[in-house]
Amino acid sequence: MAWWSSGSTNEELVSQLQKHGQFKDNRIKEAMRSVDRAHYAPRNPYEDSPQSIGYAATISAPHMHAIACEKLLDYLKPGAKVLDIGSGSGYLTHVLAELVKPGGTVVGIDHIQELVDMSNNNMAKSAEGRELLKSGAVKFITGDGRLGWPGEGPYDVIHVGAAAGEHYEAFVDQLKAPGRLFVPVDEGTGMQNIYITDKRADGSVERKKKFGVQYVPLTDAPKRS
Ligand code: SAH
Repeated sequence: MAWWSSGSTNEELVSQLQKHGQFKDNRIKEAMRSVDRAHYAPRNPYEDSPQSIGYAATISAPHMHAIACEKLLDYLKPGAKVLDIGSGSGYLTHVLAELVKPGGTVVGIDHIQELVDMSNNNMAKSAEGRELLKSGAVKFITGDGRLGWPGEGPYDVIHVGAAAGEHYEAFVDQLKAPGRLFVPVDEGTGMQNIYITDKRADGSVERKKKFGVQYVPLTDAPKRS
């Protein structure tokens, strides 16, 4: 946990994250500065901690978002196509959209309609967010993210914000060549690890285990009564 990266403003949070080595690249600094976390996190938005957003979902800690962006950065070029699975609050979806400007698109998918509504509302709190929604550069979809979202693929980048129970083939199938997947995987032992999978230009695939994490699981949608 990197609680020491907390700040009292968005600006301060982002500088603290960079100061403490959670990310290095200034493109991430600019993207995170341009998205006010207060629009997405209901309490203490500038604290470097995860928090509940209801519906058994959590907005990840800022340092986790920063680390994910840094791991994906080489593929987050202007014009890139991104899929954010388990988009929850919509915060990371917005940051990713800033990183692929101009011309890039990000699809956020979540299986809880209320969270999809929440992410649309959260993004609409800023002029930049409203523009991204209006132009179609960001789109939130309700669906089972374990299947990816083939309709808009293939993607330069797929980020998964909830722990997968297995290495779903759909994710790699929906990557461009070259393309990169960032996914937490539940190892079935109570441990979760981040895996980064690269699909190279020749179509070959390389999967690397990176570090231990704790995410909420990718599950079946809750039953509606
Ligand atoms: N990146 C988000 C993380 C939200 S927590 C954020 O920082 O705000 C993980 C999210 O995964 C939750 O919103 C949950 O509803 C969603 N989720 C869980 N299982 C899913 C599934 N099968 N398909 C799509 N979304 C799922």
